Amino acid sequence: MLMKSLADSDPQIAAAIDDELARQRQTIELIASENFTSPAVLEAVGTVLTNKYAEGYPSRRYYGGCEKVDVVENLARQRACELFGCKFANVQPHCGANANLAAYAALVEPGDTILGMSLDQGGHLTHGSPVNFSGKLYNFVPYGLNLETETIDYDELERMATIAHGVGARLMIDMAHIAGLVATGAHPSPFPHADVVTSTSHKTLRGPRGGFILTNDEELARAIDKAVFPGTQGGPLMHVIAGKAVAFGEALQPSFAEYIDNVVANAAALGEGLVQGGLRLVSGGTDNHLCLVDLTPADVTGKDAEHLLDAAGLTVNKNSIPGEPRSPFVTSGIRVGSAAGTTRGFTADEFREIGGLIARVVFNADDEGVLAAVRARVDELLEAHPLYPGL
Ligand SMILES: *Cc1c(COP(=O)(O)O)cnc(C)c1O
Repeated sequence: MLMKSLADSDPQIAAAIDDELARQRQTIELIASENFTSPAVLEAVGTVLTNKYAEGYPSRRYYGGCEKVDVVENLARQRACELFGCKFANVQPHCGANANLAAYAALVEPGDTILGMSLDQGGHLTHGSPVNFSGKLYNFVPYGLNLETETIDYDELERMATIAHGVGARLMIDMAHIAGLVATGAHPSPFPHADVVTSTSHKTLRGPRGGFILTNDEELARAIDKAVFPGTQGGPLMHVIAGKAVAFGEALQPSFAEYIDNVVANAAALGEGLVQGGLRLVSGGTDNHLCLVDLTPADVTGKDAEHLLDAAGLTVNKNSIPGEPRSPFVTSGIRVGSAAGTTRGFTADEFREIGGLIARVVFNADDEGVLAAVRARVDELLEAHPLYPGL
């Protein structure tokens, strides 16, 4: 077999990958759902495990030659259970959306009713959007926020959920964003309350792009395994499962708890900088890794802010705010998170400054001089914290 490097065999793709590495290095990544995996996770994902068909589960495969990948999947499952303090883990879902698809398939029948967070107040597409399988297959009933406190209206939720409990409802928690915080105890665990927990592995948990499902109930565990394969997926991505195992192993180390403590402290500092700069945080602050920012004081839309900040080297996403008057393509807010920047090494003081830089940009949308000054300062901050120096 010809062993040519990617740059030799496919210079177009190699160049695009190099360009993406450069882009990641040259911007302050504030998208709350993103992170930078360790080089060890990158290495595991880029291996020959991508070649292996392993439909089924360890020791119960539909293909020969699975002894080695069984070791990998068993370690991933054991580490996930240890990390989240539960009995059963399915690490095969290709992404968070697939984890939810399979979890619903294990818990309910098409047409059944699911109580879920309202999409315009924080719910995910897979929590009942009409353009998603969830909204087409199931009868989603939304719960929402108290628009004064901008936090979940627990009185209303209790009223609705009490009725659901009376008809034998079960509780599923989608912890996709906060999984890293749950892993270290920085956020309360969904167990023992939840019957089923779904998650991604690539947000605060800092693993490869993927999903997983957890439970303590043996019968549900069997239903979940069937719902993932053969219910909704084919062969598992064994190279990604290896990356998940590495990430779970990293998250079990004391250094990961330190990382998550910094993520939480840095999000608070980022929020302080934004507020000192004249912006408003939805719900008055943050308890986790992200802030939802109301741009109304700066009289700029989320869409325009996203573009302005991009030009200044600050990557964010526009986001609806509670009671949003604008369309989801325009919005009145942005969402910013500290998970990726903390991995890169930014300190709380630097995050506070970044909050101030964001405010300067959105309050001075027409001032080229301010934008250039912010870009220059962003470049200094980036240079002080090199990303993937070994690559
Ligand atoms: C990100 C996310 C998902 C979907 O994850 P993908 O890997 O993008 O499919 C599902 N639920 C929640 C709450 C999320 O934040």
